[in-house]
Amino acid sequence: MLTIGCHLSASKGYLDMAKTAVKINANTFQFFTRNPRGGSAKAINEKDIAAFHEFAAEHGIKKILAHAPYTLNLCSADESIREFALNTMIDDIKRMEYTPNQLYNFHPGSHVKQGVEVGIGFISEALNKVIYPEMTTTILLETMAGKGSEIGRSFEEIREIIDRVEQNEKLGVCLDTCHIYDGGYDVVNDLDGVLEEFDKVIGLDRLKAVHINDSKNPFGSHKDRHEKIGDGSLGTEAFERIINHKSLRELPFYLETPNELDGYAKEIELLRSLYKEI
Ligand code: FE
Ligand code: FE
Ligand code: ZN
Repeated sequence: MLTIGCHLSASKGYLDMAKTAVKINANTFQFFTRNPRGGSAKAINEKDIAAFHEFAAEHGIKKILAHAPYTLNLCSADESIREFALNTMIDDIKRMEYTPNQLYNFHPGSHVKQGVEVGIGFISEALNKVIYPEMTTTILLETMAGKGSEIGRSFEEIREIIDRVEQNEKLGVCLDTCHIYDGGYDVVNDLDGVLEEFDKVIGLDRLKAVHINDSKNPFGSHKDRHEKIGDGSLGTEAFERIINHKSLRELPFYLETPNELDGYAKEIELLRSLYKEI
């Protein structure tokens, strides 16, 4: 069965998100750990977590994906901004451990004129401080569109970060279809080639989740503007190949398309109808 969900509001807690997911025929979901612009997180409610675990087990929700605030920048030139990002991530992981063995995704960051090398150095240095041996959460580096000075615009940059982290068995990758198409990986005309490249550079065993988004912009535009499935430059047929690809079909897929809940429900219905059980 296709594991698919969408980005949901976390404001009413875990059980509420799980119930919303089930309502739209999703069997996973993504959420922000706190306000996407940063700030403090709501206290963990252990009763809510317990109720969530029970509900999730009953409804076949096995994976969930938390997304770090997208304004965090582990490789800022400003030390206090790096420090803030690091402390936020440490706190996020503490919260993630209430739902063990789940996924936590973040944007590597923007080096802003310091250069990729310096940026990658800061990011891996921070990850070395975040990861600890008993941590059950897998931290995912998201593939980026390469807007501005974003790091993670190529598979090589992601590989470089992973290589510099000591306990890198706790690291994985979240592939964003809009981002990599914008970034110059042609998942429309050469999906096999892109995945072979991913395997060669990073290793497909690192791939743990897919952000499934169409793009408002053409191939290689480095823009990062998501579009509804089928309404953008990737198109429905590309997504049919993506969700059915032997290297991807067992992964959890997350919609981050410009939609309200009813729009997400339609996209989930569409993608489920295109998925071939084998
Ligand atoms: Fe993201
Ligand atoms: Fe994404
Ligand atoms: Zn994006």
